[in-house]
Amino acid sequence: MTKLQKTNPTLFFLEGEAPGAPGLKGSRCGCGQTVLLQVAACPRCGRRDLETVCIGQRATLGESAEVFHSADGFEAPYFIGMIETEQGPRTFAPIAAAPGTALRPGMALKFRLLERADGRVGFAYAPAEARA
Ligand SMILES: [Zn+2]
Repeated sequence: MTKLQKTNPTLFFLEGEAPGAPGLKGSRCGCGQTVLLQVAACPRCGRRDLETVCIGQRATLGESAEVFHSADGFEAPYFIGMIETEQGPRTFAPIAAAPGTALRPGMALKFRLLERADGRVGFAYAPAEARA
């Protein structure tokens, strides 16, 4: 199996790398707290035996903006938005939508892997009702 190169290996899982993948990388604590990324200690209770989990398969859009300059493999125009994962943690993420799409807070989003022109694999969130 070909090893795909990720744009940012600390941020997300490819299919098969974790239960529920693809999705964002997160840590879950026994106290119920879930955070983004692999962290050494729980920000709520300080415990250090956090479980690495795949989160953010689905998310809800918060504020978003259309960006008109290309950066790091993203062809302008593209969208960037604050997303809230179904597990709770929030982050900024690229939003995969056609230019001029009316994005609105509260829209349901789903995690999508995107193959870049340079062969690396990145991710974005796409409106859940849109067809791939
Ligand atoms: Zn905790």
